[in-house]
Amino acid sequence: MLKTLKDINVKGKKVLLRVDFNVPTKDGAVTDDTRIKEALKTITHLVDQGGLVSIVAHFGRPKGEKNLKYTLKPVADYINSKGYFKAQFVEDCIGDAVKAARDKQSAGTVLLLENVRFYKGEEANDPEFTKQLASGYDVYVNDAFGACHRKHASVYGVPAIVKEKAAGFLIEKEAKWFDKIVSSPEHPFVAIIGGAKISDKIGVIESLLSKADTILIGGAMAYTFLKFQGHTIGTSMVENDQMDTVKRVLQKASEKNTQILLPLDHLISAEFNGAADYAAGVDIPDGMMGLDIGSKTAMAYASALMSAKTVLWNGPMGVFENPAYANGTFSVAKALASLKDAITVVGGGDSVAAINQSGMADKVSHISTGGGASLEFLEYGTLPGIEILK
Ligand code: AMP
Repeated sequence: MLKTLKDINVKGKKVLLRVDFNVPTKDGAVTDDTRIKEALKTITHLVDQGGLVSIVAHFGRPKGEKNLKYTLKPVADYINSKGYFKAQFVEDCIGDAVKAARDKQSAGTVLLLENVRFYKGEEANDPEFTKQLASGYDVYVNDAFGACHRKHASVYGVPAIVKEKAAGFLIEKEAKWFDKIVSSPEHPFVAIIGGAKISDKIGVIESLLSKADTILIGGAMAYTFLKFQGHTIGTSMVENDQMDTVKRVLQKASEKNTQILLPLDHLISAEFNGAADYAAGVDIPDGMMGLDIGSKTAMAYASALMSAKTVLWNGPMGVFENPAYANGTFSVAKALASLKDAITVVGGGDSVAAINQSGMADKVSHISTGGGASLEFLEYGTLPGIEILK
C-alpha cells in the first residue's frame, strides 16, 4: 500500500524530500512558480510536524556535470524572497557540505540541496551515489510526481534503501485522479489527444483504446491519420514512418468499438507563421499546412464531449502558441470546462499551458503537474517512483 504523510511520524527525524522544482526561468529569474507552490503543502506539513527537511531536486539537464548555469540557488533565493518557507541553500547534494549543514540545521529551516543532476549517478541510479544521497536520513518522502516515471537515484534508488518512506500530498492527489481514470472511469469516457507527434503518445492512445468510448484527435498528429486514410494534407507536419501505427490504432478501435474522431476542417497557411486561411473540407490544398482544427471540428468535438462523464485531455488541437491558431484548443478547453457532472483531467505539458491561457483552469477537476509522468501513468497504470514507495 502507498503510505502517505498521515501514516508517518517525522518528529525530530531527518527527512529527505524529493520535489519537482524544475521551474521555468528567464535570465536566472523564476517565471512560473506553479511547481514550487504545488510542493508547499508537503513541505509545510513536514516542517510543522517537527521534521528536519532536506530538499533534493533537479533543474534542467546538466548531464551529470557541475554546471552553475543549472544551479538551484536562484530557486532558493526566490523561495526566500516570497517567504514561502525558510530555505537554506547547500552547495552540494551529497557529502560533507550536506552533513555540516544538517548538523547545524535549526527547526523551521529547510535545506535546499544543489541540483542532483550534477552527478552522473543520479540518472544512472548508481548504487554508490544512491547510498551517499540517502546517508544520514531517517525518512524519505517523494512529492515529485513529474519525475516519477524515471528510475533515477533520487526517485527510485533512495526509497529502495531508506526504511521509512511515503508519498507527499501532491503525489497522493495526482495518483488518486489518474488511478480513477485508469481503473474505474465513469462512462462515457472521452479522451482528447493532440500535440505534435503520434509517436510520442502511441502508448497512451493504445491503452485508451480499451478504456475510452471516444477519442478526439487534434494537433499535428491528426494529419498522419488523415494521410493514412488517403486525404491530401499539403505540407502539414506528418510522420510517414507511423502509418503502420495508425493502421493498428484504427483496427483496434474498430474491434473495441471505440470511436475515433478526426478533423473535418482546418485552419491552414502557406507558412508556419503565416496568416490563417480556412479549409472547409477534410482535404488540405497543395502547398498549405494545417495549423489548427476548424470551427466545424471544434463544434463536433464539443458535442462529443457534452454527454461525457470522464474526460482526459492531453495535447493542443493546433499551434496554440500563436493566437491565430489557438481557437481550436481554446474551444475544446471551454467545452471541457462547461461539463457539470464529469471528472475532467488535464494531463501535463502543453495542455496545462493551454488550459491556463484559456482562463478555464479552475473549472476542471485536476490539472497534472507531470507531462511524461502523466502519459506513462495512463499507459502502465502506475509509475516506478510510486511503486517503489509501496
Ligand atoms: P506535444 O508536446 O506533443 O503535446 O505537442 C505540443 C506542440 O504541438 C505545440 O507546441 C504545438 O504548437 C504543436 N502543434 C500542434 N498542432 C500542430 C500543427 N498542426 N502543426 C505543427 N505543430 C503543431
